[in-house]
Amino acid sequence: MSLPKPRPDLAALEGYHSPQLDVDVRLNTNESPYAPPAAFVDAWLGALREVPLNRYPDRDARELRAGIAAALGQPAERVFSANGSNEVLQTLLLTYGGPGRRALVFEPTYALHAHIARITATEVVTAERAADFTISPTEAGVMIAAERPAVVMVCSPNNPTGTVESRATIEALLAAVIDHGPGLLVVDEAYGEFAEHSALELVADDVPLVVVRTYSKVWSLAALRLGFAVGPEAMIAEFEKTVLPYHLSAATQVAGCEALGFDGEMRERVGALVAERHRLAGALARLPGLTVYPSGANFVLVRVDGDGHALWERLVERGILVRDFSRWPRLDNCLRITVGTPEEDDALLAALRDALTKEAA
Ligand code: PMP
Repeated sequence: MSLPKPRPDLAALEGYHSPQLDVDVRLNTNESPYAPPAAFVDAWLGALREVPLNRYPDRDARELRAGIAAALGQPAERVFSANGSNEVLQTLLLTYGGPGRRALVFEPTYALHAHIARITATEVVTAERAADFTISPTEAGVMIAAERPAVVMVCSPNNPTGTVESRATIEALLAAVIDHGPGLLVVDEAYGEFAEHSALELVADDVPLVVVRTYSKVWSLAALRLGFAVGPEAMIAEFEKTVLPYHLSAATQVAGCEALGFDGEMRERVGALVAERHRLAGALARLPGLTVYPSGANFVLVRVDGDGHALWERLVERGILVRDFSRWPRLDNCLRITVGTPEEDDALLAALRDALTKEAA
C-alpha cells in the first residue's frame, strides 16, 4: 500500500523547531513570565459561563474587534482578529500573497514569515539586514523597485535580534511600497508594546499598511492564541474570504474582551519587563565573551565569543532553557534570552557565570 505524497513544494520545508524541554527556567519562547491577573481569570471564567456552548461563536468577533479598536482609537472595521498573530499572518498571505506573488523578508528575522509565505505558495525574496541588524531603507528601496513584492514583511522589534526600526525607516519602506506598488507593507509588532514607537499611527484607509499584534506576550495569554491586525477597512474585509468560518473560539473571544479591562495592569507589566530587560542586558554585557545587541522587545540576543551551542548545552545542564540560534545563517553563535522574572534572570546569570568560567578554566 502506498500513501500519497504531500505537495512537492513542501519538500524543502521544515516544521517549527524549538525544543520544549522540561527545565526549571524557561527563557526560550518570549512569553510573559507572569500569569495574567487573577481578577482577569475570574472575569473570563465568569463570562465563559454565560456563553451558549452549543452555538458557534460570533463569526466576525464583533465585540472583540470593537473593543480592540476602541482601545487603539481605530474604527472596528480596521481590526481583524485570529488564533495568534501567526494565523493573522497566514490569513494575510493567503489573501495578498499566493501563486505568482512575492513576499520580501529582511533576514535574520522571524522564521515563520518566510515559512508561512511558502506554505501559502508565495515566493520568498530575501534581503539582508546590516551588521547591526537594522534595515537599510536605501537598499530596501532598490529591492522593492526590482522585485515588486506583493507583501513586504518587517518585524519591529525584530525577532530574534530585538532591533527596532526607526520611524524614518518604516516611513521610507512605506513610501517605496507605494511608489512601486500596488504592494502591502506588513509591520509585525508582536513585541510592539515593549518599544518606544509603533507603526499603528500610520494606519489609514488609503495607506497599504497592516500592523500585526498579539496577546501572547504582553497580555500573558499565549495559551489562548489571540492576535490581531490593524489595516485599511477594505483590505481587512478581504480576509473574510480566506479565513475559516468560526475560526476564533468563544473562549478566546471572551478572553480578549475581558483582557481589555486590565489594560492598566498590562502596562505595568510592560514597564516592569522593560526595566528588567535593561538590568538583564547590562548584567549580560558585563560577562566576559558576550556581545549584547540592543533590544526593544522582551528578549535579548547575545553573541557568544566561542561555541554558542556548547554554551546553550551547558545552560540546559544547569536547568536553564534559552533559544539556540547558534547555527542559524547570519546568527553564528547567537543565543536569544527571554526576559523572565528577576529570580529567573538571576538564575540565568549565575548559570552563565558558572558556565563561562568553567569554559575558560
Ligand atoms: N510574530 C513574531 C515576531 C513572533 O515572535 C511571534 C511569536 N513567537 C509571533 C508573531 C506569533 O505569535 P502568536 O501566534 O502567539 O501571536
